[in-house]
Amino acid sequence: MAQKDLYGVLGVAKDASQDEIKKAYRKLSKKYHPDLNKAPDAAEKFKEVQEAYDVLGDQQKRQNYDQYGSADGAQGGFGGFGGGQAGGFGGGGFGGGGFDDIFNQFFGGGGRRNPNAPRPGRDLQYQMTLTFEEAIFGKKTTITYTREAQCHTCGGNGAKPGTSPVTCHECGGSGYVTTVTNTPLGRMQSQQPCPVCHGTGQEIKEKCPTCGGSGHEEQKHEVEVTIPAGVDDGQQMCLQGQGEAGTHGGGYGDLFIIFQVTPSKDFRRDGTDIYFDQPISFVQAALGDEIMVKTVHGKVKLKVPAGTQGGTTFRLRGQGVPHLRGNSNGDERVTIKVQTPKNLNKGQRDALRDFAKASGETVSGTGKGNLFDKMRDKFNDN
Ligand SMILES: [Zn+2]
Ligand SMILES: [Zn+2]
Repeated sequence: MAQKDLYGVLGVAKDASQDEIKKAYRKLSKKYHPDLNKAPDAAEKFKEVQEAYDVLGDQQKRQNYDQYGSADGAQGGFGGFGGGQAGGFGGGGFGGGGFDDIFNQFFGGGGRRNPNAPRPGRDLQYQMTLTFEEAIFGKKTTITYTREAQCHTCGGNGAKPGTSPVTCHECGGSGYVTTVTNTPLGRMQSQQPCPVCHGTGQEIKEKCPTCGGSGHEEQKHEVEVTIPAGVDDGQQMCLQGQGEAGTHGGGYGDLFIIFQVTPSKDFRRDGTDIYFDQPISFVQAALGDEIMVKTVHGKVKLKVPAGTQGGTTFRLRGQGVPHLRGNSNGDERVTIKVQTPKNLNKGQRDALRDFAKASGETVSGTGKGNLFDKMRDKFNDN
């Protein structure tokens, strides 16, 4: 194809301004417009004018044209312009990894991971039941459980000792194979884990006799655990590296011990506070007394003032549960339950009648209770 002088096509000088180029283009495109000009070569000329203006009307394209000349003409693409631009674009934007990413986004591949990258092992859970007191004071214990450990024969690579895994011949080490399916919508490509190496990218020619190539073996594992004082029901404790073995040199997962604390017959617990109900006689409540109250740390003295009402709560500082962080303890909250005496003997009944009299009270009860009460009390006493 003959060389084209684009400036010549528009009839402007090489140093023409963009304005001059635009004016020349308008004039010529009107002149050769096929609707207006019925000359046989008008359409061809019109096309030439369009092409020339496509390049010269655009400053960047004009610069390229000036630099690389008109050797290939507007249709063929300019050496530097076409090739250079396309090259830069292909390499930077769309080549290699860029396209893979787009591909994977499209097909839900989730990103192509290196199949040989180290992957940590799974975490495990262990349910541990503690008594109420064990949770409060902590304990040392040894637990035994079964886990997938690194094979002791092959060290985890799955190959027979003296051999090593090789790059998978099927997928070339990528761990994926691409299949093409013809569908009514066109050819569909999909990626699937390689059926030979199951996505690992490595093939084991001679498998380890102990693990059969998995690199893992079941192990009865024993760990000594120190449970800190103050753990609570539902809390968990993480022992790093006591989970299952990783693959491709990845570390062990973790073990999570989940505590289940059995309730106490005597105490209720809320965080680091302990709640306890203390029964006292109505005489103790009325006259006041010094009593010994049960706590998880042993019996503790409590002064009950005269005239204490049922439901009154006293706080025994520091007699609760140790804080997991820090040296202090929570408290024990003691709720007073005033007991009404039952099955009074004659002496008690007389004393109470005297008491009522001294209080100016008139009481109609006999103090004997009914037959049902008597039977129930007898039953409970035995
Ligand atoms: Zn092995
Ligand atoms: Zn493979």
